[in-house]
Amino acid sequence: MRISHLSAECSPFAKTGGLGDVVGSLPKALERRGHDVSIWMPFHLEAAQWYRRRLQWPIEALPPFEVSVFGRSHRVGVLKGLLPNNTVPVYFVAHDPLFHRQAGIYARNDQGGDDGLWRFTLFVRATLEAMKRLGLHPQVLHAHDWHPALAPMLGAWSGWRDRWFDDVASVVTIHNIQYQGIYSPDEFPILGLPDDVKKGGLLDFKGSLSLLKGALEAADIITTVSPTFASEIQTPEGGGGLHGVLKGRSGRLVGILNGIDHEVWNPEIDPHISARFSADDPSGKAECRHELLKIVGFETGDPGMVLGAVGRLVDQKGFDLLFEAAPELIRRGIRIVVLGSGEPALEGAMRLLEAHHPSRFRAVVGYDDVLSHRIEAGADAFVMPSRFEPCGLTQMYSLAYGTVPIVRRTGGLADSVIGYDGYNDAVATGFHFDSPSPHGLAAEILRAHHLFYRRDAWQRIMRNGMLVDNSWEHAAGLYEDAYKRAREVRGLGW
Ligand code: ADP
Repeated sequence: MRISHLSAECSPFAKTGGLGDVVGSLPKALERRGHDVSIWMPFHLEAAQWYRRRLQWPIEALPPFEVSVFGRSHRVGVLKGLLPNNTVPVYFVAHDPLFHRQAGIYARNDQGGDDGLWRFTLFVRATLEAMKRLGLHPQVLHAHDWHPALAPMLGAWSGWRDRWFDDVASVVTIHNIQYQGIYSPDEFPILGLPDDVKKGGLLDFKGSLSLLKGALEAADIITTVSPTFASEIQTPEGGGGLHGVLKGRSGRLVGILNGIDHEVWNPEIDPHISARFSADDPSGKAECRHELLKIVGFETGDPGMVLGAVGRLVDQKGFDLLFEAAPELIRRGIRIVVLGSGEPALEGAMRLLEAHHPSRFRAVVGYDDVLSHRIEAGADAFVMPSRFEPCGLTQMYSLAYGTVPIVRRTGGLADSVIGYDGYNDAVATGFHFDSPSPHGLAAEILRAHHLFYRRDAWQRIMRNGMLVDNSWEHAAGLYEDAYKRAREVRGLGW
């Protein structure tokens, strides 16, 4: 099957979170299953820098051409690279004024305005035009999150204008329901959709436009990144205001747990860590632990539990719960390393803890790929107190690295970690807690801490986690089913 992925992020070129990881790895697994796969993304400054650091540059796939958005013409280029060590093509839509932003992929424009609707409209229009010029005709357009939402909308609602879509089905994946692409209704004309779409309220969200809502209404099949999250988003508490739409389309909605990229997150081959190890020979983990403690300036001889955490410092991730619980955990002898960046208040809280407990709490503010690998490999346990979590990848990386995850029982965390109940160390892979409170979190960490000193049980749990098959192969098979269904519901074969 010919499948084109459209996304704002793709690892390793430009990524802020799990979206980038998924788009950088699912296509490889699909290609291994014999599909003809491509990835389309904006040529962000990060991607240009990624190439420059390697003294490389993607090739020009097409001569520059003009794309019109709301009557304004933009000259775009299309460059073509490959996923590293792979043959999956990545097409970059290049337009420096809109995609080269110093402050990041989702940065506002120079005047501080949010011109995301305009930017991603250009991205989708240029992508579709380039596909036509290159003679690429995907059978499935797979749009990730709200940014490429216009693609499925054009497919569903302007087919009578553009026969190109007659043989194209669409799949939309929700990686995070909190980011919906909300814009003023005045911006509707920029999208270039028929007026009936507006009259029908298909994008209407409390008086604003929600691009994600439009994509969900238009998609042939909707997927999200774990089965539990697929249920949660159909409830008023978990649906971010879109539960009605999702419930109405529940027959088209499926939850597929993400896999992890074993070429990148694998302690047997990871170049970022000081020793390689595996479930059968975990001895190298001690060296990784030693190295981590050295890097963060902790006493290396102290055998007490070291707790790691990596992630975006936003309300969703529940870092505030960890920071509130930290003094008590430290008092009990636990040391904590956190790598993250995001909301200034959370960054401040984390720095303050470090100032108060310099030998027991290390706050690394920033984005650091290599350190994230070292924390996954070197910590004893990994904590993820998320308020909600569509899938979560870092707990799966922890499993692979024998770093026991302690997670809140929500979304993909509930689906990917088997909690220890006091007896099930033959199968448990980590720890679960329910209450999104500092107390609930601390109680579970202390339960884990207790078990940490029962080395045989702890090691069984570590090993159970390392043996979990979180590869993309399984998930790719489920996506294949979703693509087939998307074509079926459209009355198309494959
Ligand atoms: P989300 O997509 O909500 O951010 P996930 O757990 O699915 O959460 O994915 C997060 C990804 O981003 C992981 O690969 C994680 O290692 C990475 N990451 C997040 N914050 C940082 C950081 N500060 N430094 C390095 N990597 C980070």
